[in-house]
Parts: sequence; C-alpha cells; structure tokens
Amino acid sequence: MKTPYIFAKRFVAGESYDVAEKKVQRINQKRIRVTLDLLGENIKDATTAAETVDAYIELLEQIKASTLDSSISVKLTMMGLDISEEVCYANLSRLLDTAKAHNQFVRIDMEGSDYTQATIDLFKRALKTYQGHVGIVLQAYLHRTEKDVADLAALGADIRLCKGAYREPANIALQSMDDIRAAYKEYAKVLIEKTAFPRMATHDGSLVTWLQEYATSEGLAKDRFEFQMLYGLREKTMNELSADGWKTCIYVPYGTMWFPYFTRRLMERKENVFFIATTLLKP
Ligand SMILES: Cc1cc2nc3c(=O)[nH]c(=O)nc-3n(C[C@H](O)[C@H](O)[C@H](O)COP(=O)(O)OP(=O)(O)OC[C@H]3O[C@@H](n4cnc5c(N)ncnc54)[C@H](O)[C@@H]3O)c2cc1C
Repeated sequence: MKTPYIFAKRFVAGESYDVAEKKVQRINQKRIRVTLDLLGENIKDATTAAETVDAYIELLEQIKASTLDSSISVKLTMMGLDISEEVCYANLSRLLDTAKAHNQFVRIDMEGSDYTQATIDLFKRALKTYQGHVGIVLQAYLHRTEKDVADLAALGADIRLCKGAYREPANIALQSMDDIRAAYKEYAKVLIEKTAFPRMATHDGSLVTWLQEYATSEGLAKDRFEFQMLYGLREKTMNELSADGWKTCIYVPYGTMWFPYFTRRLMERKENVFFIATTLLKP
C-alpha cells in the first residue's frame, strides 16, 4: 500500500514546486536562506537521468524567475551515477552550465558510502570549471572524512558538514554519538580555519551551542559560517539564530518521490515518529 503524503508533510514542503515556493517565501522573509531539493534517488537508466537533469534545470530557471533566495541540492544517483561516472558527469556539467550562467549554486548531497569516492571525484572534476557554483557535503561519521576535509578544504571547496544519515558498518563509520560529535567539532574547526564559508548542518543542540561558543571564543563574526537545518525541524531555533544575526539556511525537500527521504528522518529519531503520530491525531 502506498504511504499517503500526509505522513510526510512535516518534512516535505509539497509535492509540487508551486506549493514549495510559498513555503520558501515565508522562510526567506525571516532572513533564512533555502536550498531546494527535488526529491528522488537512484535512477538506473540514462533517459530518466537526463529527464531529471532537465527537471533540475527547470528548477534553477524557476528560482531565477522568482524572488527566492535559494540554491539547490542534488544527488548524483539521480543523475546517472549508477550507470557510469561519465554519464553522471555529462549530466552534472549540463546542470552546472545553467548554474554558472545564472550565477546560481548547486550542492551535491553525500549519499551512502558506496558512492563517497565517486562523489568526491566528480566534485573535484567539476570544481575546476564551476568553482563558486558547486559545493559538496562531508559526513563526520566516516573514518575517511579526516582526510577528505583536509583535501577539499585545501582546494577552497564550499563544504556542508553533517553527521551522516546512512547506516554504515563500524569499519567504515564511527558508531557512538559521542565519537561522532567529537569528530564533527574537529572538522568544523578545520573548515572554519581553512574555508571561506562552511555550512554546519545539524539539529543537535549541543553542537549548535558549541559552534556559537567556539565562534565567540575565537572572536569570529556571526557571518563566518552558516547553520543549516532540515525543513520541519527546530523551526524555533532557526528563527532565533537568524534573529540573533547568525547566518542560516533551511534544506527544503519537495516532490512526489519523498518516501526514502521521509524514512531516513523517521529512522534518525524516535521523536520524529512521535511527532508525526501526534500531528495525525490532531483534529
Ligand atoms: C541541512 C542538512 C543537510 C544534510 N545533508 C545530508 C547529506 O547530504 N548526507 C547525509 O548523509 N546526511 C545529511 N544530513 C543529515 C545528517 O547527516 C544527520 O543524519 C541529521 O542531521 C541528524 O543528525 P543531527 O546532528 O541533526 O542530530 P541528531 O543526531 O538527529 O540528534 C542529536 C540531538 O540533537 C537534538 N535534536 C535533534 N533534532 C531535534 C529536534 N527536531 N528538536 C529538538 N532537538 C533535536 C536532540 O538533543 C538529539 O538527541 C543533512 C542534515 C541537514 C540538517
């Protein structure tokens, strides 16, 4: 049985661009930037991958034609990474040509560890032609990230740091939350020191507070980095951060293919399941 959209409504801004656009406008009014994610994952045939790129390009055009303050976030498995790196790169560069022409920004989300190396390779290749228009995500839980942070920071990359959302084994990723938080802090320090404007993606109150305290103790300006959170989570905290002068950005997913994204949000925290249950029970 297909899960009804009402279950996902908390985390997904709408099934169409028109619905999502109104939500983004309201977020932007609070001086919070947005990155829009047209949902979907793991496309296996070249025709559908090319159509997805067309849809991403249309999204860039829609943002350009609007008053929205929004970049976009994309997944390489939606652009043919499962077919071949060459197909994927051809699609990615077609998208980035538009982003560059319109002075827009495309962030490549990081997926499961089977894709980490290929994602970094394609990002590095893209950076040579599209610096300033393309960014990447690194996951603090991966053992390899210490090296990736150093390598990519040295290239001046625009990096979003997150904990990591996929279930990974102990030989690939840290398992305890304390270890992941400690790694996150180390990498955040490197990114602040070595890159122009790192993006700190977390809802974790202890990390948000630590980042604020670290910025204050180091004498950093509040616009030295950006807090990023997902649509539907910690809205009050985001509003407060923005009102207090910190740079903020909300990741806003939309589209009909919301099921895997929604499932990941539920797996992350039992409170999310509880929240959805209570939302549904409200009259
Ligand atoms: C903008 C953004 C982009 C992302 N992009 C990627 C990506 O490309 N690839 C990827 O693998 N992952 C991505 N993620 C997901 C990320 O990796 C984590 O899986 C996810 O953010 C959960 O980790 P967390 O640090 O937010 O807090 P959690 O580990 O979920 O929570 C830790 C603690 O924070 C507090 N907390 C968390 N949520 C709330 C809440 N809603 N209300 C109150 N307290 C709360 C609680 O104290 C909780 O115990 C992204 C996350 C964000 C925010």
